Amino acid sequence: DSSLLHDSSFIDGRCVEPIDSLPLEHHAIQMPSRGDQGREGRTGTFLVMDPSTRTDEEAVLVELVDGGEMAAHYAVDVAARMFEQWRAVSVRNRASLLRKWSELIRNHAGDLARIICAETGKTVYDAYAEVQYAKSYVEWFAEEALRIQGDYSCDPEARVERVAVGVVGLMTPWNFPAAMVTRKVAAALAAGCTAVLKPSERTTCTALALADLAVRAGIAPGAFNVVVAKDPALVSRVLSTRKEVAKLSFTGSTAVGKMIIRQSALHVQRLSLELGGNAPLLIFSSADISETVSALVSNKVIRNCGQTCVSANRILVHDLLYDRFLAKLVQRIGELEPHNFWDNPGEDPCSPNPDASRFFGPLIHQEAVEKIELHIADALHHGAQLVCGGKRIPKIGLNFYEPTVVVGGQPCMKAFGEETFGPLFFIIRFANELDAIRLANDTVSGLAGYVFSQDSGQCSRVAQALDVGMVGINTTAISDCRMPFGGIKQSGYGREGSKYGLDEYLYLKYVRGSLS
Ligand code: NAD
Repeated sequence: DSSLLHDSSFIDGRCVEPIDSLPLEHHAIQMPSRGDQGREGRTGTFLVMDPSTRTDEEAVLVELVDGGEMAAHYAVDVAARMFEQWRAVSVRNRASLLRKWSELIRNHAGDLARIICAETGKTVYDAYAEVQYAKSYVEWFAEEALRIQGDYSCDPEARVERVAVGVVGLMTPWNFPAAMVTRKVAAALAAGCTAVLKPSERTTCTALALADLAVRAGIAPGAFNVVVAKDPALVSRVLSTRKEVAKLSFTGSTAVGKMIIRQSALHVQRLSLELGGNAPLLIFSSADISETVSALVSNKVIRNCGQTCVSANRILVHDLLYDRFLAKLVQRIGELEPHNFWDNPGEDPCSPNPDASRFFGPLIHQEAVEKIELHIADALHHGAQLVCGGKRIPKIGLNFYEPTVVVGGQPCMKAFGEETFGPLFFIIRFANELDAIRLANDTVSGLAGYVFSQDSGQCSRVAQALDVGMVGINTTAISDCRMPFGGIKQSGYGREGSKYGLDEYLYLKYVRGSLS
């Protein structure tokens, strides 16, 4: 019964979703109105929560219909049916539709930022920056679509074509609910693939709003479908057991990524995996302390409260500047301010606020708060010392946590081996470059790494020695739609963004013989 399935998800260009009833007025969000069709016969629902509130009661944003496996099957059917039609659209037209989508994202940037703010707790300014970042991928892949080229040899009877892989199953996390979606969907659509997206159940509304804008832009209904489901495992099982799904692209934790690898074996699906990180950030004796602290604080606190895969998880500091660095870091942390929507409802995401570089939001949920507490307690138990922070901030919101500095970090501690995903500055001292590199590479992850030094020879030596997919030299702002985003080791494989990101959705076909 397709009317029932439509009820929960955005499939075939339609969304009979109760998002018109989103109790988001406090965020002044203009959500698409969808009417009542198909609401009867719901089998189950789940709640989307605002992580930034002071009480659980205030936190409920919306009750969504759980599409479950049925919606996933239906979405795959629709995407498979649509594939021939979408890949036959000329690249010029695909590019122009993507450009139109990016224009609509730009025109609705304020609304999208408020939805992201509501679902993730990010400040509206941080959320607005994410919308710009998300839009950049749509613009980029609109241009890259025009550059999909095969190879022709001097032998007129042989050529190489680049061909859309088919229907793709996309799974995205909550921490960048718009950018992680556009980074995959825009590349897939540019390549001529049709997509079934399963966004994080925590940030479904952002994905639905993006899908709605895509259809308004003229992208064929059914080319980009969103399955809304409470249990992600049921959907990932459908995506990996349907032979029509040629490829899976997953961004999320390494643990779930490993499960996706196993599931993909059934039909030998192609995979792209953007998994967890454990970034080292190395600060050498010649580093500019002020610039280093500023880059670090924006990476660990201002940007999504440190909940990013490229967040510096282990901060390695040279003995010679250790005391001065620590003093500056603590001073800068003292200037930061927890900030929630509820106390600042009139804020306009589209109007820059010079104070925004001091604001930070909450963690995503209580388990995230418990994880940072566990990492701090474990470090202290093994001999580390707490310099500042270390407490919840319930007067601002249940999931707010103080930016915290812990020194005396050692490899035996949990915070060294695992992604903390929060505003913990876990600091380790080192005496020489070789020791620092050895410590930096002592992890199963290999996503991002950072070097801060004024010695150019040292910067290039260390950048070369780090076992990671991305290196920032005297910067933590490494995300860029033009550049390949991705990791090595257990941080996954495949790249997103850049010209390489498009290759993930194309296969090479060698053709021999004359056409006549
Ligand atoms: P997560 O693994 O819990 O969830 C990611 C996606 O997988 C979501 O869509 C979720 O619904 C789904 N999922 C969760 N459990 C599942 C299961 N048992 N079976 C199938 N699907 C399941 O990750 P998260 O908490 O949403 O995101 C944080 C993680 O994502 C961090 O580890 C972070 O480093 C990583 N991340 C990586 C990148 C990157 O580009 N490498 C970018 C952002 C986030």
